[in-house]
Amino acid sequence: MSILMYIQLAVKKLRDTYRTGRTKDVEFRREQLRNLLRLMDENEEEILEAVHKDLHKPRTEATLAEILVVKNDIAYALNHLSEWTKPEPIDVPLVNKMDSCFTVSEPLGLALVIGAWNYPIQLTIMPLIGAIAAGNCAVIKPSEIAEASAELVGKLIPQYLDQECFTVIHGGVEETQCLLNKCKFDKIFYTGGSAVGKLVMQAAAKNLARVTLELGGKSPCYVDKDSDLEIAVKRICWGKFANAGQTCVAPDYILCHPDIQEALVKQFKEALFEFYGEDPKESPDYARIVNNRHFNRLKSLLSSGECAVGGETDESENYISPTVMIGVKPTDPIMENEVFGPLLPIVNVESFDDAIEFINDRDRPLALYIFANDKSKIQRFMDSTSSGGFLANDTVVHAGVESLPFGGVGESGMGNYHGKNSFDSFSHKKGCVIKKQAMESFNSIRYPPYEEKRLAW
Ligand code: NAD
Repeated sequence: MSILMYIQLAVKKLRDTYRTGRTKDVEFRREQLRNLLRLMDENEEEILEAVHKDLHKPRTEATLAEILVVKNDIAYALNHLSEWTKPEPIDVPLVNKMDSCFTVSEPLGLALVIGAWNYPIQLTIMPLIGAIAAGNCAVIKPSEIAEASAELVGKLIPQYLDQECFTVIHGGVEETQCLLNKCKFDKIFYTGGSAVGKLVMQAAAKNLARVTLELGGKSPCYVDKDSDLEIAVKRICWGKFANAGQTCVAPDYILCHPDIQEALVKQFKEALFEFYGEDPKESPDYARIVNNRHFNRLKSLLSSGECAVGGETDESENYISPTVMIGVKPTDPIMENEVFGPLLPIVNVESFDDAIEFINDRDRPLALYIFANDKSKIQRFMDSTSSGGFLANDTVVHAGVESLPFGGVGESGMGNYHGKNSFDSFSHKKGCVIKKQAMESFNSIRYPPYEEKRLAW
């Protein structure tokens, strides 16, 4: 059987199941979510091994970002499912007081979840939680780049979830293109780079499928002169160098006044020594670049500016040390695209307002960070910029607040998820009115002939 036929058949099977209404049943959704939680519970070791194989992901980072975050989100959905699936009454004007007016969340239908490789378990399972909770059938297409994790997802999903409702399809560009262009979905949830995001949106337009695009981009981090540099740098290091910088919301570059650059670099040296020791290559807490292509892409960026910390590479292991770069100009190659690796350029700005202008001159980022003590500065920074998410005096942790919407704006994406937002992302909010056939005399004032009645009012 050709790939195309195999995929089309699998998708048709799911579409047929969706028509039976099986996934709409709230008890069924609850059971599938419980099974998903069991999948995460019973296979922790296998998950940790797979992400270690793919990215050398440290155990603690993986436990936090690939397991705990996902389990929390499943538990949150289970705890709130009854409330989310109930009809919601709405405020109505006087004329509708006798009617029953409410909204119900109905599933969109058949969903396609396309995952990325950097958090290969989280980025496939978290959207799936929303798809299940909202009552959809779903195809899951893990990223082929994180091979061991994709294989594991493909092995475990059929063991725990209803195979007629949820299926994993493996593959790269050819298979994904086939799913996008030769199959009909009601919802496409894509995580990855923006170039492919545009292709996803084009394909979705053919069927007017709803899309969520979880993309990336350069997330700036402004460090103000008045902030505690030691604390700022530790928090930046954690967010930037976890998973060797391959995190969509990792701070991409630092903006600071030249007066504090030297002190910042000193703090970076100390924090990195404290985190990873003399040689980060020997640290069990430091990941590797996912493959040779990305290793070489990152290595070529080392020519921008000068390495103030780090800069070591080892191709045999796809290793790049945590690196802080100075003397970087806004026009340097490293400032063109998202770094998505452990290289942190520092770009100088003359003032707080220049930092805001620098950010507003560029694409709207997925995350925006500021380290400052002055509350009014934080407020002004937030009000004068636009970004998917905003975080003051820390990095990345906003992504773990389960009830906060997580998603981008403009070039960094559209739509959002996590918690109730995931449920909403896979639902259609149907506006409903239930009237009675009584009170016809009141209703009849809207019927023609109009002229006579308007006079009577
Ligand atoms: P990737 O290469 O794994 O691609 C993502 C998915 O798109 C994969 O499933 C892949 O098979 C598919 N794909 C790739 N090329 C395709 C094509 N030509 N046609 C159809 N499908 C195709 O991941 P990536 O793009 O390298 O991901 C990195 C980017 O993702 C970064 O920009 C990062 O910031 C972003 N990201 C965003 C989030 C978020 O939640 N917003 C999370 C993780 C990563």
